[in-house]
Amino acid sequence: MNDDPEDFFPKYKEELVKIASETDIPEAVKRSVTAYRVNILKVFKSFPDSLQLAEEVRRIKEYSINHIKELVEEACESFERNKASCYLAKTAKEANEIVGDLVGSGKLVVKAKSMVTEEIGLREYLQELGNEVWETDLGELIIQLAGERPTHLIYPSIHMTRERVAKLFKEKLGVEVEPDISKLVATARRFLRDKLVKADVGISGANAVAADSGSILTIENESNIRLSTALPPKYIAVTGVEKIVPKLRDALTVLEATWRFIGYPAPSYVNMIFSASKTGDIENTVTYGAQGPKEMHVVLVDNGRIEVAKHPVLKESLYCLKCGACMFECPIFTLVAGNYGDKYPGGIGLIWSYFTGGNKERITSMLYACALCYRCKERCPLKIDTPRMITTLRSMLVKEGYVPPQVREIAEETLEANEKILEELEKNIQKNERK
Ligand code: SF4
Repeated sequence: MNDDPEDFFPKYKEELVKIASETDIPEAVKRSVTAYRVNILKVFKSFPDSLQLAEEVRRIKEYSINHIKELVEEACESFERNKASCYLAKTAKEANEIVGDLVGSGKLVVKAKSMVTEEIGLREYLQELGNEVWETDLGELIIQLAGERPTHLIYPSIHMTRERVAKLFKEKLGVEVEPDISKLVATARRFLRDKLVKADVGISGANAVAADSGSILTIENESNIRLSTALPPKYIAVTGVEKIVPKLRDALTVLEATWRFIGYPAPSYVNMIFSASKTGDIENTVTYGAQGPKEMHVVLVDNGRIEVAKHPVLKESLYCLKCGACMFECPIFTLVAGNYGDKYPGGIGLIWSYFTGGNKERITSMLYACALCYRCKERCPLKIDTPRMITTLRSMLVKEGYVPPQVREIAEETLEANEKILEELEKNIQKNERK
């Protein structure tokens, strides 16, 4: 990555044009956008109260982000009460080290999809420690095999056609399979089933965390989260502190709005995990380690969130449900997918990338790729004002010295023109005074 924004901006523009015109990404995204529009209409038809539900979630998130520190404390106390260990990681490095200590080396680790683990680079970190780590969500597995980053918050491999997935499975798994979606899914099932059964450690993220009861809530369709969190003897949840809400019923409300705006009338599963598996069947004595994990650990990741929660404009980004709806409306995203993004994809992803330690040169260039069309805000269930945050972040980065050369040229030309106008005005005033 080039560190000089003067060089980076034109290169980035070239990259975007190339992706939009020379790859099958726009076609792959077009197929997904078409499917999303059909799905979301069906959801609204079946559940006409979806917008009211989203308003309620906005209120829950506003309260939660305003009380983020207290909720972290309360959640940790509740997890400990449930006999799960709880850790607050200030940075990405700290989070990786905590999980690394819990996992050790030489282990087989299965992971459910989680953007926070992408943010901190957990899979790569655990691999460096000598572990075998597998993503168990199909989209994430595809991305892992391709050696790429997720390009959408919900559909990480949205930019790939079935033909490309078949080619990838042949190259990386050594399995010849037709580009038929159900055959591709069956291939992944066979491969992952073996890993899930043998795994030493299971890792997941969370869609919401309830502070009052100390619970991790997740939504899924594939059943890979159930299996990753229930089969291995050790379970580790890694999640951002912004996912914590005060009560279990708030968490359920957040989940319902999330799946509806992802475009599901109902997901296949909702999981709620309060502790490691336990039984009281012999002498009514609670003993941990029944059929599921013997241990549960929760790593709450700060990595810039608690600081950004104090920012008057950018704090709104923490309300994000990561439903990905805004990306399907974004004219830039639909052409280049997650290449419009850094650690996180899309417009909202730029704000997230900034405060979680993304590449500022890349983020700056992308901020100016935004057309400020406001379609993302319209589509967002919580009406998160991403365009406003984008303009605020542009100004913040200008103060930090990150200005794309074209913008600098325009600003300099404007200043020069303004100076000339001022000079002329001054001359005219002096002339008039002499008369
Ligand atoms: S900004 Fe809104 S629409 Fe976009 S992912 Fe977040 S909650 Fe969903």
